[in-house]
Amino acid sequence: MKKIMLTGDRPTGRLHVGHYVGSLRRRVELQDTGDFDDIFIMIADAQALTDNADNPEKVRQNIIEVALDYMACGLDPEKSTLFIQSQVPELCELSFYYMNLVTVSRLQRNPTVKSEIQMRNFEASIPVGFFTYPISQAADITAFKATVVPVGEDQMPMLEQTKEIVHKFNSVYGETLVEPKILLPDNEACMRLPGIDGKAKMSKSLGNCIYLSEEPEDIKKKVFSMFTDPNHIRIEDPGSLEGNTVFTYLDAFCRPEYFLEFLPEYKDLDELKAHYQRGGLGDMKVKRFLNNVLQAELEPIRTRRKELQKDIPAVYEILRKGSEKAEKVAAQTLKEVKAAMKIDYFADEELIRAQAEKFAADAAE
Ligand code: ATP
Ligand code: MG
Repeated sequence: MKKIMLTGDRPTGRLHVGHYVGSLRRRVELQDTGDFDDIFIMIADAQALTDNADNPEKVRQNIIEVALDYMACGLDPEKSTLFIQSQVPELCELSFYYMNLVTVSRLQRNPTVKSEIQMRNFEASIPVGFFTYPISQAADITAFKATVVPVGEDQMPMLEQTKEIVHKFNSVYGETLVEPKILLPDNEACMRLPGIDGKAKMSKSLGNCIYLSEEPEDIKKKVFSMFTDPNHIRIEDPGSLEGNTVFTYLDAFCRPEYFLEFLPEYKDLDELKAHYQRGGLGDMKVKRFLNNVLQAELEPIRTRRKELQKDIPAVYEILRKGSEKAEKVAAQTLKEVKAAMKIDYFADEELIRAQAEKFAADAAE
């Protein structure tokens, strides 16, 4: 079986370091293994409109921001197809048919959608499109026959929903769709990177982000304002790692070589953590180290982005070409889906012939 990757992001803002450790870094690594037959990276503008219907300009302006972040991180249009969701109308058609295979109560049970509804204060005014976005995600994934979907932990319920739709579809209409596998980050801290405020998830919508394109001064300010252990008041006090955002970020970003470069008095992260827990290690010192680590990680991304920003029309051209290719692939899947569902009337010569015979026989009676 072919190895195909699909994943994407909503163009609701520039991408942040949560996206990077949750999915983006992994995508680039997988892309560069050369193991995949096809890679599709989608800018999910149609999905972003499900909770931004009254603000289309925000979505429109952020498409280029996401595309620049993608390429700055190393997604290479020669190896990966970068495309815009709304430019592939076949995805809407697939969603429409999948809707018949999912119940309202099943959608209501989706824990990610539940918490997003709460976060957005939708309560009684949930847009139907937002409520059904897990179905449209199933369409995105299955349209490209994706076998691997590298995403953060919040996407687990969406992948479950997709698998259920695949099973249901295949059992009702015959083997047509491919079941995808979720690829979660292997490091706990990257599953759901908290915001700099220590809140559960770094999210564009919560304004608690460090962006990939952030300037060095702003990275520093954000790191130094970060949430740590509120009971760690004097340097000699023992500190706790539980919910300590600075250490969570070190778990997500630190590489062994950074100790040698920025903090040679410690062997590794375990040693640093042990000292913090014992007491005698101040928050400032840890934050200075994290700042150095983040600066080192983000500097090459920021520099590449500035280069790419010099030719915006070229980036749009990449997205246009990618969307064209994506549409071809999705159209083929849609054709197979419609044939399986027996809604391919004009292509089905057998149907037309049999009915012609039936009516002729009726007339002859
Ligand atoms: P929005 O607030 O508009 O929903 P978002 O910041 O949640 O934006 P998405 O576009 O919804 O970002 O998510 C894109 C991808 O990034 C998904 O695979 C998601 O799992 C991953 N991701 C987003 N935030 C984080 C995070 N804080 N930690 C790990 N992965 C994340
Ligand atoms: Mg989200």
